[in-house]
Formats: sequence, structure tokens, C-alpha cells
Amino acid sequence: GQTLDTAWAVRWLRASAAVIAENRVALIELDRAIGDGDHGENMDRGFTAILEKLDGEQPATPGAAFKLAAMTLMSKVGGAAGPLYGTAFLRAGTAVGDAAELDSATLVAALTAARDGVVARGKAEVGDKTMIDAWTPAVDAAAAAAASGEDPAAVLAAAASAAEAGAESTDPLIAHKGRASYLAERAIGHRDPGAVSSALLLRAGAQAAEV
Ligand code: ADP
Ligand code: MG
Ligand code: MG
Repeated sequence: GQTLDTAWAVRWLRASAAVIAENRVALIELDRAIGDGDHGENMDRGFTAILEKLDGEQPATPGAAFKLAAMTLMSKVGGAAGPLYGTAFLRAGTAVGDAAELDSATLVAALTAARDGVVARGKAEVGDKTMIDAWTPAVDAAAAAAASGEDPAAVLAAAASAAEAGAESTDPLIAHKGRASYLAERAIGHRDPGAVSSALLLRAGAQAAEV
């Protein structure tokens, strides 16, 4: 895999914008089933704004790229997801500091900090049918991969696979946080949109580390 340097971080953000745009309608449909139908639109607005920012400024480090993403998501994306993803990227940026590239341990620290930021803000636990059902397995898989000596690209790929499985695991759940919690049993059988978008973002990061 590739070095997780600033160029990777920028590739990740650009690839995220592309995959969110591709999945805009799918995310809207997931959120229409158990929320208010705006998740795809919210995410697409935020990542389109990130692309515009990246056209105007070149971040100096991966941490600066994460902070650029955080500020943009916080200012452009309303609802639950904007502050949650904004906090995730901000905490990740702080965790990596001014490192020029991320080794496996630093990557795990960044993913952990991102997840912890979402939990600090939204108070969700695994099983509440939120993006945490993607993030926590992703963090656990990343930590296990790093502990067994995998390189950063492989650690990220492990995180993405676990996030995808985690998103699928939300299907049979009743939601305990967010708008879907108002539906009680009627949320059963539907996948959580934020868990799906989280998996898409992590997969984009892993793919940006492969090329
Ligand atoms: P809104 O619900 O305000 O319309 P979005 O539709 O953009 O916001 O985002 C909804 C997603 O946010 C949900 O699918 C869920 O994954 C996530 N979410 C909502 N509340 C929480 C929370 N308290 N903790 C973690 N994630 C949450
Ligand atoms: Mg919504
Ligand atoms: Mg909304």
C-alpha cells in the first residue's frame, strides 16, 4: 500500500466526495425510510464544499486536510451528521498532529479519536442503529490489524471491511438515537444511513491508499 501522507489525505477527501455524490440518491432513500430523507443531500453538500476548498488551498499535512474537512462539514452540513462528522474529522486531525505521514499506530489513534468524538457528541453505543455501529467495529479491526503488524493501507482496509459489516448489522435493529428512534419497531429491516456513509468514507480512504 501507499504511504498515508498529505497527498493520500487529499486523494481520500476527493474520492469521498465522488463516492458520496454517486451514493447521494441511495443515502436519501435509506434516510427516507427511517429518517427525514436528507442524509444524501447533506453529505453531498458538505463534500462538494470540501472539493471547492481543496481547489483553493493545499493542506500542508494530513492533519490539516482533516481539519479543513471538519470545518467545512461543520459549517455546510446541518442536522445530526454535520456536527458528528465534523467532530470526527476534527478529533482525527488533532490526534495526528503535524505528522507528515501516518504509521499504523497513528492511524489507529486517529480512527479511535474520530469514533470517540462521535460518541462524545451523540452518546450512541453499539447497537443503537447509528454510525457508531460502523465506527466501533472499524476501530477494533484497525487496532487488531495494527497489532499484528499490518501496514497502514492494510489497517485502513480492515477498518473499511468492518465498517461495511457493521453497517449491515444495523438492519435488524431498533434505533435508540437520532430520528429513526421515533419509529421504534418500524425501523427494523432498514439500514442506518449514517452507518452506510461511514463505511463509504472508510472504503474511499482505503482505496486512496491502494493506488
Ligand atoms: P438528520 O437526522 O438530522 O436529518 P442526517 O440524516 O444527515 O441528519 O444523519 C442521520 C444519521 O446520523 C443517522 O443515520 C445516524 O447514523 C447518525 N446519527 C444520528 N444521531 C446520532 C447519534 N446520537 N450518535 C451517532 N450517530 C447519530
Ligand atoms: Mg436526515
Ligand atoms: Mg435532517
